[in-house]
Amino acid sequence: MQQILVLNSGSSSLKFQLFTMPEETVLCSGLIERIGSEDAKFKYKTNREKIRVVTPIPNHKVALEILAKQLLDPETGSIKSPEDIDVVAHRVVHGGKEFSETIEITKNVKDKIKALSPLAPLHNPANLEGINIAETIFKKAKQVAVFDTAFHQTIPEHVYKYALPNKFSDKIRLYGFHGTSHKYVSEKAIGLLGEKESKIITIHLGNGCSMSAIKNGVCIDHSLGFSPNAGLIMGTRSGDLDPTIIFYLAEKFNLNLKELNTLLQKESGMLGLTGHGDLREIEELAKEGDKACQLAIKMNTYRIKKYIGSYTAALNGLDAIVFTAGIGENSTIMRELICEDLDFLGIKLDIVKNNERLKTIRTISTPDSKIKVFVIPTNEELEIAKETYDLLVKE
Ligand code: AMP
Repeated sequence: MQQILVLNSGSSSLKFQLFTMPEETVLCSGLIERIGSEDAKFKYKTNREKIRVVTPIPNHKVALEILAKQLLDPETGSIKSPEDIDVVAHRVVHGGKEFSETIEITKNVKDKIKALSPLAPLHNPANLEGINIAETIFKKAKQVAVFDTAFHQTIPEHVYKYALPNKFSDKIRLYGFHGTSHKYVSEKAIGLLGEKESKIITIHLGNGCSMSAIKNGVCIDHSLGFSPNAGLIMGTRSGDLDPTIIFYLAEKFNLNLKELNTLLQKESGMLGLTGHGDLREIEELAKEGDKACQLAIKMNTYRIKKYIGSYTAALNGLDAIVFTAGIGENSTIMRELICEDLDFLGIKLDIVKNNERLKTIRTISTPDSKIKVFVIPTNEELEIAKETYDLLVKE
């Protein structure tokens, strides 16, 4: 039995879950939000306790110290000593082409994660900081890195390459993201299909959105690219754009590189189209007749539909579609609009099942639908713990 603490360090947040593996028992889980602010929120949950504190947390070091203190609390904590943690498993967003598998962290691995920071400036530095601090708190534990990009390393060259002069293609290529989520839900879907061979499209719709085409468990195409801003329309990110628009914006609106980056990453997508980043609000307003919200939903679902068409062609067929993440798991209207008018492919949604508000794995297509439609709640932390445990068993 191994106690694995999974850490997901974002730029201003820290998500965590402590598992015993291989049992997959969750001892505690939680989230620290708004790190760097006076009123950061600390949420900690076990099967006995639910603790919520609002307190100043200036940086990630303090955040991890608060987490460690809570883990060790004699009354409400989950461990007796930092040495009870066998492994700290870190989600690392960008593994470049260097990392196609989960790996134990060494000085060399950290150097490479650092060298990849220009490709994921918001994420890799925060991930690295999480690793450095965890090493000082959980001194005896192994530190392991699980990469968001790893699952997409099977994408073939003619798909991952961009049509730029070859001298740039060493670094500039499609890497793909949300890999642990696509892997986790596609494995569940393969289990549900019960066939040896399978053609699946996984649709991860959260604040970030992406789709993968997966043939016999292997990823062959993916909608995010060189960065996590390609493909689908997201909460605040534009997704696919004609690159010429960027020059036009720079020239006509006098925007510098930093401003352009902020515009495309933080001010575009559903937020740019509607003034709202949270889909729940946008759906409410659309229902009340707000034209901008109605149009944004139409644009968003149309693009997903277009990707379903192209991935069905790439896969030369389709057995199942999987919806996952905040929007994919919860938004009945998005799922309905995405699956609408795809009957030529053999997709038939069961409207009653689609409208059920459940938190479990479920089939929402009709029994006679040629292509199955599944809703599969993602669990990136569990996937990270599983990959980490597999690495330890292999050693
Ligand atoms: P995630 O990044 O996976 O946590 O997903 C966050 C997104 O899920 C936000 O944009 C929310 O608007 C969306 N979301 C969560 N619950 C619902 C719901 N019941 N209906 C529509 N969207 C939802």
